[in-house]
Amino acid sequence: MNIIVCIKQVPDTNEVKLDPVKHTLIRDGVSAIINPDDKAGIECALQLKDKLGAHITVVTMGLPAADVALREALAMGCDDAVLVTDRRLGGADTWATSATVASAVKAVCPNFDLIITGRQAIDGDTAQVGPEIAEHLKLPVISYASDIKVDGGNVTCTRSYDDRTHKLKVKMPCLLTAIGEATTPRYMTPGGIFDAYNKEIKILGRDQLDVAEENIGLKGSPTNVVKSWPKDMKGAGVKKTLDPKEGSAWLVDSMVEKHIL
Ligand SMILES: Cc1cc2nc3c(=O)[nH]c(=O)nc-3n(C[C@H](O)[C@H](O)[C@H](O)COP(=O)(O)OP(=O)(O)OC[C@H]3O[C@@H](n4cnc5c(N)ncnc54)[C@H](O)[C@@H]3O)c2cc1C
Repeated sequence: MNIIVCIKQVPDTNEVKLDPVKHTLIRDGVSAIINPDDKAGIECALQLKDKLGAHITVVTMGLPAADVALREALAMGCDDAVLVTDRRLGGADTWATSATVASAVKAVCPNFDLIITGRQAIDGDTAQVGPEIAEHLKLPVISYASDIKVDGGNVTCTRSYDDRTHKLKVKMPCLLTAIGEATTPRYMTPGGIFDAYNKEIKILGRDQLDVAEENIGLKGSPTNVVKSWPKDMKGAGVKKTLDPKEGSAWLVDSMVEKHIL
Protein backbone atom coordinates (compact mmCIF):
# COMPACT_ATOMS: atom_id res chain seq x y z
CA MET A 1 0.00 0.00 0.00
CA ASN A 2 1.40 3.42 -0.99
CA ILE A 3 0.53 6.31 1.30
CA ILE A 4 1.42 9.94 0.59
CA VAL A 5 1.42 12.45 3.46
CA CYS A 6 1.47 16.15 2.57
CA ILE A 7 3.01 18.36 5.21
CA LYS A 8 3.60 22.08 5.56
CA GLN A 9 6.37 23.73 7.54
CA VAL A 10 4.80 26.58 9.53
CA PRO A 11 6.01 29.25 11.98
CA ASP A 12 5.97 27.91 15.57
CA THR A 13 3.50 30.57 16.67
CA ASN A 14 -0.11 31.59 16.35
CA GLU A 15 1.07 35.19 16.23
CA VAL A 16 2.01 35.11 12.52
CA LYS A 17 3.23 38.49 11.36
CA LEU A 18 2.77 39.61 7.76
CA ASP A 19 5.17 41.80 5.80
CA PRO A 20 3.00 44.96 5.35
CA VAL A 21 4.46 45.51 1.84
CA LYS A 22 4.80 41.98 0.36
CA HIS A 23 1.84 40.57 2.44
CA THR A 24 3.83 37.38 2.92
CA LEU A 25 4.64 35.79 6.28
CA ILE A 26 7.65 37.12 8.18
CA ARG A 27 9.60 33.87 8.77
CA ASP A 28 13.00 35.31 9.79
CA GLY A 29 13.78 34.71 13.45
CA VAL A 30 10.68 32.54 13.91
CA SER A 31 11.35 28.84 14.52
CA ALA A 32 9.49 26.48 12.22
CA ILE A 33 7.58 23.28 12.98
CA ILE A 34 5.58 20.65 11.12
CA ASN A 35 1.96 21.89 11.03
CA PRO A 36 0.18 20.13 13.95
CA ASP A 37 -2.61 18.57 11.84
CA ASP A 38 0.05 17.24 9.44
CA LYS A 39 1.90 15.54 12.29
CA ALA A 40 -1.40 13.81 13.07
CA GLY A 41 -1.57 12.85 9.38
CA ILE A 42 1.91 11.29 9.65
CA GLU A 43 0.84 9.38 12.79
CA CYS A 44 -2.30 8.04 11.05
CA ALA A 45 -0.15 6.80 8.14
CA LEU A 46 2.37 5.19 10.54
CA GLN A 47 -0.45 3.39 12.40
CA LEU A 48 -1.69 1.95 9.07
CA LYS A 49 1.91 0.92 8.28
CA ASP A 50 2.23 -0.78 11.70
CA LYS A 51 -1.00 -2.72 11.11
CA LEU A 52 -0.90 -3.50 7.38
CA GLY A 53 2.58 -2.69 6.15
CA ALA A 54 2.76 0.35 3.85
CA HIS A 55 5.25 2.59 2.12
CA ILE A 56 4.95 6.22 3.27
CA THR A 57 6.20 9.11 1.15
CA VAL A 58 6.08 12.56 2.76
CA VAL A 59 5.81 15.57 0.44
CA THR A 60 6.19 19.28 1.10
CA MET A 61 6.36 22.38 -1.09
CA GLY A 62 8.38 25.18 0.47
CA LEU A 63 11.70 26.90 0.95
CA PRO A 64 14.88 24.75 0.92
CA ALA A 65 14.85 24.99 4.74
CA ALA A 66 11.68 22.88 4.76
CA ASP A 67 13.94 19.81 4.48
CA VAL A 68 14.20 19.94 8.29
CA ALA A 69 10.47 19.17 8.55
CA LEU A 70 10.92 16.25 6.11
CA ARG A 71 13.79 14.81 8.14
CA GLU A 72 11.62 14.94 11.26
CA ALA A 73 8.93 12.99 9.38
CA LEU A 74 11.56 10.43 8.26
CA ALA A 75 12.79 10.14 11.87
CA MET A 76 9.19 9.40 12.95
CA GLY A 77 9.12 6.47 10.53
CA CYS A 78 8.21 7.68 7.03
CA ASP A 79 10.10 5.90 4.23
CA ASP A 80 10.79 8.58 1.61
CA ALA A 81 10.69 12.37 1.47
CA VAL A 82 10.16 14.83 -1.39
CA LEU A 83 10.89 18.57 -1.27
CA VAL A 84 9.23 20.67 -3.98
CA THR A 85 11.15 23.92 -4.05
CA ASP A 86 11.77 26.52 -6.76
CA ARG A 87 11.61 30.34 -6.70
CA ARG A 88 9.14 30.15 -9.60
CA LEU A 89 6.69 28.38 -7.26
CA GLY A 90 6.86 31.15 -4.60
CA GLY A 91 3.91 33.32 -3.53
CA ALA A 92 1.42 30.57 -4.36
CA ASP A 93 -2.13 30.76 -3.06
CA THR A 94 -4.06 27.60 -2.23
CA TRP A 95 -5.00 26.92 -5.87
CA ALA A 96 -1.40 27.11 -7.08
CA THR A 97 -0.09 25.27 -4.01
CA SER A 98 -2.53 22.39 -4.47
CA ALA A 99 -1.94 22.18 -8.25
CA THR A 100 1.82 22.02 -7.68
CA VAL A 101 1.67 19.49 -4.83
CA ALA A 102 -0.77 17.32 -6.84
CA SER A 103 1.66 17.26 -9.78
CA ALA A 104 4.51 16.32 -7.41
CA VAL A 105 2.46 13.39 -6.06
CA LYS A 106 1.85 12.18 -9.63
CA ALA A 107 5.56 12.57 -10.41
CA VAL A 108 6.87 10.57 -7.43
CA CYS A 109 4.14 7.99 -6.83
CA PRO A 110 1.50 7.74 -9.60
CA ASN A 111 0.14 4.49 -8.07
CA PHE A 112 -0.69 5.87 -4.66
CA ASP A 113 -3.57 4.34 -2.70
CA LEU A 114 -4.12 7.02 -0.07
CA ILE A 115 -3.21 10.70 0.37
CA ILE A 116 -3.38 12.20 3.86
CA THR A 117 -3.13 15.94 4.37
CA GLY A 118 -3.78 18.00 7.51
CA ARG A 119 -7.21 19.57 7.97
CA GLN A 120 -5.66 23.07 8.11
CA ALA A 121 -2.38 24.98 8.40
CA ILE A 122 -1.98 27.23 11.46
CA ASP A 123 -0.58 30.12 9.33
CA GLY A 124 -2.71 30.43 6.14
CA ASP A 125 -5.59 28.74 8.02
CA THR A 126 -7.71 28.21 4.87
CA ALA A 127 -8.19 24.40 5.06
CA GLN A 128 -8.44 24.53 1.26
CA VAL A 129 -5.31 22.75 0.02
CA GLY A 130 -6.32 19.18 0.93
CA PRO A 131 -9.69 19.18 -0.88
CA GLU A 132 -8.10 21.13 -3.78
CA ILE A 133 -5.39 18.45 -4.21
CA ALA A 134 -8.21 15.88 -4.37
CA GLU A 135 -9.93 18.01 -7.03
CA HIS A 136 -6.79 18.24 -9.18
CA LEU A 137 -6.34 14.43 -8.91
CA LYS A 138 -10.07 13.71 -9.33
CA LEU A 139 -10.19 11.83 -6.00
CA PRO A 140 -12.98 11.36 -3.45
CA VAL A 141 -12.17 13.29 -0.27
CA ILE A 142 -13.16 13.01 3.36
CA SER A 143 -12.16 15.99 5.49
CA TYR A 144 -11.91 16.21 9.29
CA ALA A 145 -11.09 12.49 9.34
CA SER A 146 -9.97 10.38 12.29
CA ASP A 147 -10.01 6.72 13.38
CA ILE A 148 -8.79 5.74 9.90
CA LYS A 149 -8.93 2.02 9.00
CA VAL A 150 -8.25 0.17 5.76
CA ASP A 151 -10.26 -2.89 4.78
CA GLY A 152 -9.43 -4.37 1.38
CA GLY A 153 -9.77 -1.56 -1.18
CA ASN A 154 -11.76 0.70 1.13
CA VAL A 155 -10.97 3.20 3.88
CA THR A 156 -13.38 3.68 6.79
CA CYS A 157 -13.05 6.65 9.10
CA THR A 158 -14.94 9.04 11.34
CA ARG A 159 -15.81 12.47 9.95
CA SER A 160 -16.21 15.08 12.71
CA TYR A 161 -18.69 17.97 12.68
CA ASP A 162 -19.18 20.54 15.44
CA ASP A 163 -22.13 18.66 16.91
CA ARG A 164 -21.94 15.11 15.56
CA THR A 165 -19.80 12.55 13.74
CA HIS A 166 -20.37 10.31 10.72
CA LYS A 167 -18.80 6.93 10.04
CA LEU A 168 -17.83 6.92 6.35
CA LYS A 169 -16.41 4.37 3.88
CA VAL A 170 -14.63 5.38 0.65
CA LYS A 171 -12.94 3.44 -2.16
CA MET A 172 -9.22 3.98 -2.65
CA PRO A 173 -7.45 5.86 -4.15
CA CYS A 174 -8.80 8.75 -2.06
CA LEU A 175 -7.71 11.73 0.05
CA LEU A 176 -8.34 12.33 3.75
CA THR A 177 -7.67 15.48 5.79
CA ALA A 178 -6.58 14.58 9.33
CA ILE A 179 -7.47 16.44 12.50
CA GLY A 180 -4.69 17.08 15.03
CA GLU A 181 -6.63 16.54 18.21
CA ALA A 182 -7.66 12.99 17.18
CA THR A 183 -4.29 11.35 17.69
CA THR A 184 -0.99 11.76 19.57
CA PRO A 185 1.95 11.75 17.16
CA ARG A 186 4.83 9.45 18.19
CA TYR A 187 8.24 10.87 18.94
CA MET A 188 11.22 10.50 16.66
CA THR A 189 13.44 7.61 17.75
CA PRO A 190 17.25 8.07 18.17
CA GLY A 191 17.76 5.41 15.48
CA GLY A 192 15.16 7.14 13.34
CA ILE A 193 16.95 10.49 13.67
CA PHE A 194 20.27 8.88 12.70
CA ASP A 195 18.76 7.17 9.64
CA ALA A 196 16.81 10.28 8.68
CA TYR A 197 19.94 12.40 8.47
CA ASN A 198 21.61 9.85 6.22
CA LYS A 199 18.63 9.58 3.92
CA GLU A 200 18.54 11.39 0.58
CA ILE A 201 15.63 13.77 0.15
CA LYS A 202 14.30 13.91 -3.43
CA ILE A 203 14.22 17.52 -4.66
CA LEU A 204 11.74 18.54 -7.36
CA GLY A 205 11.89 21.91 -9.11
CA ARG A 206 9.47 23.48 -11.55
CA ASP A 207 11.02 21.69 -14.55
CA GLN A 208 10.36 18.26 -13.03
CA LEU A 209 6.65 18.95 -12.63
CA ASP A 210 3.88 18.42 -15.19
CA VAL A 211 1.78 21.42 -14.12
CA ALA A 212 0.50 24.28 -16.31
CA GLU A 213 2.37 27.60 -16.12
CA GLU A 214 -0.93 29.35 -15.34
CA ASN A 215 -1.30 27.21 -12.20
CA ILE A 216 1.98 27.91 -10.42
CA GLY A 217 3.47 30.56 -8.16
CA LEU A 218 2.22 34.11 -7.67
CA LYS A 219 1.22 34.47 -11.36
CA GLY A 220 -0.86 31.28 -11.17
CA SER A 221 -2.63 32.40 -7.99
CA PRO A 222 -6.21 33.67 -8.50
CA THR A 223 -6.11 34.98 -4.90
CA ASN A 224 -3.66 37.73 -3.97
CA VAL A 225 -3.39 39.25 -0.51
CA VAL A 226 -3.70 42.99 -1.48
CA LYS A 227 -3.74 44.45 2.00
CA SER A 228 -2.94 43.03 5.43
CA TRP A 229 -2.94 44.66 8.84
CA PRO A 230 -2.81 43.41 12.41
CA LYS A 231 -6.20 43.12 14.09
CA ASP A 232 -6.95 45.60 16.88
CA MET A 233 -6.94 43.44 19.97
CA LYS A 234 -10.12 44.15 22.00
CA GLY A 235 -9.78 45.01 25.73
CA ALA A 236 -10.31 42.28 28.36
CA GLY A 237 -13.99 43.28 28.86
CA VAL A 238 -15.82 43.71 32.19
CA LYS A 239 -16.53 40.82 34.55
CA LYS A 240 -19.43 41.20 37.00
CA THR A 241 -20.97 38.74 39.50
CA LEU A 242 -24.61 39.78 39.90
CA ASP A 243 -27.87 37.94 40.47
CA PRO A 244 -29.98 37.52 37.32
CA LYS A 245 -32.25 40.50 38.01
CA GLU A 246 -29.37 42.90 38.82
CA GLY A 247 -27.36 41.43 35.94
CA SER A 248 -29.98 42.05 33.26
CA ALA A 249 -30.58 45.59 34.61
CA TRP A 250 -26.83 46.31 34.51
CA LEU A 251 -26.58 44.89 30.96
CA VAL A 252 -29.44 47.03 29.64
CA ASP A 253 -27.99 50.16 31.31
CA SER A 254 -24.54 49.46 29.79
CA MET A 255 -26.04 48.91 26.32
CA VAL A 256 -28.06 52.14 26.58
CA GLU A 257 -24.91 53.96 27.73
CA LYS A 258 -23.03 52.60 24.70
CA HIS A 259 -25.95 53.55 22.37
CA ILE A 260 -26.45 49.91 21.44
CA LEU A 261 -29.98 50.13 22.69
C1 LIG B 1 -2.54 35.26 6.44
C2 LIG B 1 -2.66 34.51 5.13
C3 LIG B 1 -3.90 34.47 4.50
C4 LIG B 1 -4.02 33.75 3.29
N1 LIG B 1 -5.25 33.72 2.71
C5 LIG B 1 -5.39 33.01 1.57
C6 LIG B 1 -6.67 32.91 0.95
O1 LIG B 1 -7.68 33.44 1.44
N2 LIG B 1 -6.78 32.18 -0.19
C7 LIG B 1 -5.71 31.58 -0.75
O2 LIG B 1 -5.87 30.93 -1.77
N3 LIG B 1 -4.47 31.64 -0.19
C8 LIG B 1 -4.31 32.35 0.96
N4 LIG B 1 -3.09 32.42 1.54
C9 LIG B 1 -1.97 31.72 0.92
C10 LIG B 1 -1.98 30.29 1.49
O3 LIG B 1 -1.68 30.35 2.83
C11 LIG B 1 -0.89 29.50 0.80
O4 LIG B 1 -1.30 29.19 -0.46
C12 LIG B 1 -0.54 28.22 1.54
O5 LIG B 1 0.55 27.61 0.93
C13 LIG B 1 -1.62 27.17 1.56
O6 LIG B 1 -2.73 27.54 2.27
P1 LIG B 1 -2.93 27.31 3.84
O7 LIG B 1 -1.73 27.74 4.58
O8 LIG B 1 -4.20 27.92 4.21
O9 LIG B 1 -3.05 25.73 3.97
P2 LIG B 1 -4.32 24.84 4.31
O10 LIG B 1 -5.25 24.76 3.16
O11 LIG B 1 -4.93 25.23 5.62
O12 LIG B 1 -3.52 23.43 4.47
C14 LIG B 1 -4.24 22.24 4.56
C15 LIG B 1 -3.26 21.10 4.40
O13 LIG B 1 -2.72 21.08 3.07
C16 LIG B 1 -1.36 20.63 3.09
N5 LIG B 1 -0.49 21.71 2.61
C17 LIG B 1 -0.68 23.06 2.69
N6 LIG B 1 0.38 23.74 2.16
C18 LIG B 1 1.26 22.77 1.76
C19 LIG B 1 2.56 22.80 1.16
N7 LIG B 1 3.15 23.96 0.87
N8 LIG B 1 3.18 21.61 0.88
C20 LIG B 1 2.56 20.42 1.16
N9 LIG B 1 1.34 20.31 1.74
C21 LIG B 1 0.71 21.47 2.04
C22 LIG B 1 -1.04 20.31 4.56
O14 LIG B 1 -1.31 18.95 4.82
C23 LIG B 1 -2.03 21.19 5.31
O15 LIG B 1 -2.39 20.74 6.59
C24 LIG B 1 -2.92 33.12 2.74
C25 LIG B 1 -1.67 33.16 3.37
C26 LIG B 1 -1.55 33.86 4.55
C27 LIG B 1 -0.24 33.88 5.23
